[in-house]
Amino acid sequence: MKLETGTRVWLRDSVHGWIGAAVTGTSAGSKSDELVHLRTSNGPTQIAVNNTDDHPPLRSFTQEQNFVDDLTQLHLLNEPNLLITLRSRFERRIIYTYSGLVLVALNPYADTSIYSNDHILHYASDNPPSQPHIYSVARSAYDGICNAKRNQTIIVSGESGAGKTVSARHIMRYFAVAGKTKDKNTITSTEERILATNPVMEAFGNAKTLRNSNSSRFGRYLQIYFDDKSSIVGAHIRIFLLERSRLVYQPHNERNTHIFYQLCAGLKTDFSLKRELKLGSADEYNYLNQGQCSRLPGVDDAFNFDITRRAMTSLGIDNSTQKQIFRLLAALLHLGNIEIKQTSSTRQDASVSITDSSLLHAAELLGISAIAFQKGLMHKTIGVGRIRAESEKIVTSLNKDQATTARDSLGRHIYTRLFDWLVIKLNSTLLSKESGASDSARQFVGVLDIYGFEHFHKNSFEQFCINYANEKLQQEFYNHTFKLSQEEYDREGLKVAYINYPDNQPCIEMIESRVGLLALLDEQCRLPAGTDAGLRTKMDEMLRSPYKKALFSGSKSNSLGAGAFTVAHYAQDVTYDVDGFLEKNRDSVPEEHKNLLNEAQNSFVKEVCTADLTPTTPPSIVSTPTQPLKTPLQAVHSPPSRSSVDELSSAFSKGHIRSPSTIPPSWPPASPGSPSLSAPTLRKQPTLGGTFKMSLNNLMTTINDTDTHYIRCIKPANQENASWSFDNQKVLSQLRASGVLETIRISRAGYPSKMTFDKFVEKYDILISQRETKLKSNNDRKASFKILEGTITNKTLYAIGRTKVFMRVGVLAHLDKLRSIL
Ligand code: ATP
Ligand code: MG
Repeated sequence: MKLETGTRVWLRDSVHGWIGAAVTGTSAGSKSDELVHLRTSNGPTQIAVNNTDDHPPLRSFTQEQNFVDDLTQLHLLNEPNLLITLRSRFERRIIYTYSGLVLVALNPYADTSIYSNDHILHYASDNPPSQPHIYSVARSAYDGICNAKRNQTIIVSGESGAGKTVSARHIMRYFAVAGKTKDKNTITSTEERILATNPVMEAFGNAKTLRNSNSSRFGRYLQIYFDDKSSIVGAHIRIFLLERSRLVYQPHNERNTHIFYQLCAGLKTDFSLKRELKLGSADEYNYLNQGQCSRLPGVDDAFNFDITRRAMTSLGIDNSTQKQIFRLLAALLHLGNIEIKQTSSTRQDASVSITDSSLLHAAELLGISAIAFQKGLMHKTIGVGRIRAESEKIVTSLNKDQATTARDSLGRHIYTRLFDWLVIKLNSTLLSKESGASDSARQFVGVLDIYGFEHFHKNSFEQFCINYANEKLQQEFYNHTFKLSQEEYDREGLKVAYINYPDNQPCIEMIESRVGLLALLDEQCRLPAGTDAGLRTKMDEMLRSPYKKALFSGSKSNSLGAGAFTVAHYAQDVTYDVDGFLEKNRDSVPEEHKNLLNEAQNSFVKEVCTADLTPTTPPSIVSTPTQPLKTPLQAVHSPPSRSSVDELSSAFSKGHIRSPSTIPPSWPPASPGSPSLSAPTLRKQPTLGGTFKMSLNNLMTTINDTDTHYIRCIKPANQENASWSFDNQKVLSQLRASGVLETIRISRAGYPSKMTFDKFVEKYDILISQRETKLKSNNDRKASFKILEGTITNKTLYAIGRTKVFMRVGVLAHLDKLRSIL
């Protein structure tokens, strides 16, 4: 980079990311540094520049940002140019930009007029607009169905509030409108049913949080199925990791899931149901009023209740089933209001009055005897010895805190079951066997709306699971992106060295391998005396040394809790508080509570709480296999060395650590006073981490068999709900976390610029002589070669393929400069 006086450059800035500057002079600095003097809008400044710096503070400036739809087409592919391109487009009210295979979507937090049915039909037409749009992604997925007959997945990611769910809705609408009828504006009932899943899933699974007033508290993979005529025949929903804790706890200014507030507000006009459910206003319930925002400005919960009910009706959930669902929800609200006291100042035992109206209402709505319910809330049963016959069970009293914890775990259990039941119910309508829809399904487009990478001030088990999911998706993204480039090079007959790309397999392995973090966590959960602190120590012992701190940096203890550990994720390092990991991973409910539900007289409660709710499997449709790669790709990081894996395996065999299968079947009772109520009854129960790992791996198997499209949603505003606001640092950090910057950086190692011969010659023939221009008319390939030969001396900077010219970074910029001075 030349630093002559007057040159315009980008200067790294701690507040704005990058700011424009002009060079006013240079002088020698210390060692090999050069001191560059600059003028910026903040006044004069100077900066030391060293040619060996991996992250130079100065970058070349360009004004080309106004003219590209695709970031990878920028001649000067540097971070500030990428950022300013997005910014300048955003300021012109353009929210979508391609970055190679990825569609970058900036959330405007404002209404735009780009989503009408006419827009959909235009993008679905034979002559679609070339501008980037979410509909162009949907269109290309649909083309993949129709032409290549391959299954497709659109992966939508981004941080909370970035616009994933809204994007997923737009994609669904695209298929509903365009997928069926190219010439009509009507939506048929199958499509209507698919769209109706949105209000239902969002009512039960979304909540107001500090970051987003309609935040999804679960991940979702919606598969839309098409028949052999490429018409929609049905859909299937898979859900991931519903946030369990929200039912019983909401931080300040956050709410429980919408459905509870809708129910309380909606029943105001339905007096008989209100009486039957014995419901008051949302403010009266402990499970709804902790965040102190049970009413939200601009949100009409009663109106939304109506929408939810209608959507349920159109999804085949009739009025009487809806009533049963509402009874169960009301029971949960009463459950949370049951007053659990300490028996007396001298006795620690919990006590619940048999006349407590909340106890009576909850018991009645659940169909459980109030006396049994009262007893179940105050006691726990623990088994003794190997065989847990009746005679070997001991009933002990709980103290107030333990009883409250147990009550809340019962509530969480019921709500999670209800959510799972609902998804199964919706799936049975969306792709019913009876209608033959499931038999006629040939291909699908999957839309994944899943939480993006999270890194908060305090990170817990939930963030760990979310970031683990993102590691898996990122791996898929790397494989896919670089695989496609490699395939194109092969097709074009280029002899390109292996593309080195970052491989996060070691991190994934550290989490999910047989001796990885999740396995250690499960093992600790199964140990009778397992604790969060014990997990931390074990992780330290097992993970730190093999991974040499590169991925797992030592856990530290702190005076307040069980300590913390740090994982080096692909996006950044995240430190997790180990407190609560075991409890959350166990996700168990005391046995006596399960017994209560088993004996419930209410058949709906019984169905929801005791039926097998294993998610239904969608029709398995396998894509036409793609050509296997001729040349395997190579990863930058080598996978963990055999010896490190062996080291862990041998630790197992030497008995330093017991694998889950070696744990004896007996389950000794918990030590007296143990805060854990659930451990004794757990034994071989699946853990949350284990279940999540399995569902994630199933998802990856599905996705790996599809063509993938990526939408990276970005929340550019610094403050919630600020319309058309763009904060450089916020955008940069999200571009980094989404892998967009990294992918562009790596693509520079290959040939990021490419042009078909005819386009190349049309633009640059001016750079060669008349004689060669003649040649051009006969053979664009030869003319392209002549142009490059005559203008670029270093032959490694370009390659001529079968249909295209491939150029390394900087070549196009050079050609344009030559063109401009002619
Ligand atoms: P979470 O992870 O919390 O579920 P999310 O990424 O799903 O977040 P959304 O709920 O889709 O975020 O979007 C948050 C809000 O941003 C929306 O309620 C809407 O107000 C606004 N928004 C999102 N996308 C758009 C868009 N394309 N145009 C206008 N506003 C949008
Ligand atoms: Mg969402």
